[in-house]
Amino acid sequence: MNKGNKLYEGKAKIIYETRDKNLVIQHFKDDATAFNNLKKSKVEGKGVLNNRISEYILSNLSQCGIKTHLVKRLNMREQLIRKAEIFPIEFIVRNIATGSLTKRLDISEGTVLEKPLLEYCYKKDELHDPLISKEHIYSFGWATEKEIKEIDKISLRINDILLGMFRGIGIKLVDFKIEYGKAWNKDTEEKEIVLADEISPDTCRLWDVKTEKKLDKDRFRKDLGNVIQGYQEVARRLSIMPEETNISEVNFGKTTSIKFKKK
Ligand code: UDP
Repeated sequence: MNKGNKLYEGKAKIIYETRDKNLVIQHFKDDATAFNNLKKSKVEGKGVLNNRISEYILSNLSQCGIKTHLVKRLNMREQLIRKAEIFPIEFIVRNIATGSLTKRLDISEGTVLEKPLLEYCYKKDELHDPLISKEHIYSFGWATEKEIKEIDKISLRINDILLGMFRGIGIKLVDFKIEYGKAWNKDTEEKEIVLADEISPDTCRLWDVKTEKKLDKDRFRKDLGNVIQGYQEVARRLSIMPEETNISEVNFGKTTSIKFKKK
């Protein structure tokens, strides 16, 4: 699949066009940002790991009947995806209180929520992605009531599947952010809602069940060190990286040297 012009460059990914107007290429960068771009750094190998982890998770979701934008992984850093018109909303699902929720409402860190909590944020960097209600979404036409009803149902289903997937490898899924878009379905000749973007340690909070050690982007946000080792641990437990690979011995200048298991 030939890579065409750059369509969009975000904080962690780049989108390129292809010859097919309904397909684009998603490239995972090593750039890490937090606190609305105030903190920036390169975490070598992060893009390679996120590409692989997100491919694994989205493929599994797809097998469970969730429609996603993923077509296939192309190489170490790139995926072929369906072009989607992204809703300008970040959909957050929480199982355990932490992060902005604890600060905003003075909820104790680590409170296990009785049922998953769905939140919506308006995707607007200049405004620091503010929390919004469904009424805001409808008022400003960011999505319809019908679309949000469908998305809420999919988000809760994704949460169920991921809770189980991570629990099976000794990880608590604390919370995560997902994005959705509308993509063309050539069979029905209509647009349909698909899960877009990525699901990776950049977009989830993942804690070791026993030690509560953080294996996600909070290692970067909170300067906990060993960021890539956290991501690598997730990949290893998902069995997409061989046990013996030690990231500290890998020269990420040559990312092709990372050994992954063949599918
Ligand atoms: N999240 C994300 N991108 C964002 C904001 C949040 O992927 O721009 C994820 C974050 O990793 C966490 C969840 O969404 O898994 C909830 O994040 P929270 O609102 O607590 O954000 P904080 O401001 O504390 O990072």
